[in-house]
Amino acid sequence: MDARTLSTKLKSIAYRMGASHCGISNAEQLSAEALRLEQWLKKGHQGSMHYMERNFDVRIDPRKLMDGAKTVISMLFNYYTPEPYAYPKISRYARGDDYHEYLRQTLSKIVELWKLEIGNFQGRICVDSAPIMEKAWAQRSGLGWMGKNTNIIRKGYGSYFFLTEIVTDLLAAPDAAGPDFCGSCTACIDACPTGALDEAYTLDAHKCISYLTIELRDSIPKEFQSKMEGWMFGCDICQEVCPWNRFSKTTPISAFQMSEPLLNMKIEDWMALTESTFKVIFKKSALKRAKYSGIIKNLKFISSA
Ligand code: SF4
Ligand code: SF4
Repeated sequence: MDARTLSTKLKSIAYRMGASHCGISNAEQLSAEALRLEQWLKKGHQGSMHYMERNFDVRIDPRKLMDGAKTVISMLFNYYTPEPYAYPKISRYARGDDYHEYLRQTLSKIVELWKLEIGNFQGRICVDSAPIMEKAWAQRSGLGWMGKNTNIIRKGYGSYFFLTEIVTDLLAAPDAAGPDFCGSCTACIDACPTGALDEAYTLDAHKCISYLTIELRDSIPKEFQSKMEGWMFGCDICQEVCPWNRFSKTTPISAFQMSEPLLNMKIEDWMALTESTFKVIFKKSALKRAKYSGIIKNLKFISSA
């Protein structure tokens, strides 16, 4: 089978399994991106996410992640749901089931179906877990551009997508990277309440509400108290203001729809939430990643502003 036919077959199965967009790149070293990552780390923008400092060589070259890797197949999965934000605010991506579990299973099924169609091959599934520069691969494979808010944006679709990759020893025909459509817009930089995007195309995680409410295990520094704008888990401000997100469409994936408990939770329910109730209600939710203690810590922080 020639490389172009192989690409078409791989993509058609990915779409059948729920991927919104699928793009392909040659597995090679990411030279320009490596330089940017090095500078970002030197500035300490990763905050306490020290795992970003580890496996640098692997992170910039997928051939070090999997022996014999020839191709990186990137897929976007839509998670957009249209319901307005309630208080306390939760990022759209965490409204449904934990995407790690759902997407790992989906990508495993995709690999199985590919094998049935084309025979055996080596494939490594990446859903947040592996040291891989997922935005760089999405961009290279023509799925979108990395906007000034550092999210991957697809023209005519927006940025409410989970990014996943399968690194493989298959040799499929690559796609071409597309242009950057941010132009002179600075809406995300202007709207960020903490100044985390002051340098366009660069996120200072230290200052990002998403980092402060999910990744940071210590107390949130006082200086941010008046800037949280009601966000308890994550923050979507720089995506909400992005003009390309006017094109977002509701996800067809039922696992990412707003969960019933979240839909009905009022501020008084959050205030009265116990650890045992949290564990039952949010058993399948991405919120459990912040743990009950993290959710309560954030809730207290934003409500005492
Ligand atoms: S997620 Fe929120 S805090 Fe982080 S960069 Fe975007 S607007 Fe700023
Ligand atoms: S808000 Fe404007 S500058 Fe920011 S990512 Fe979207 S298009 Fe680019």
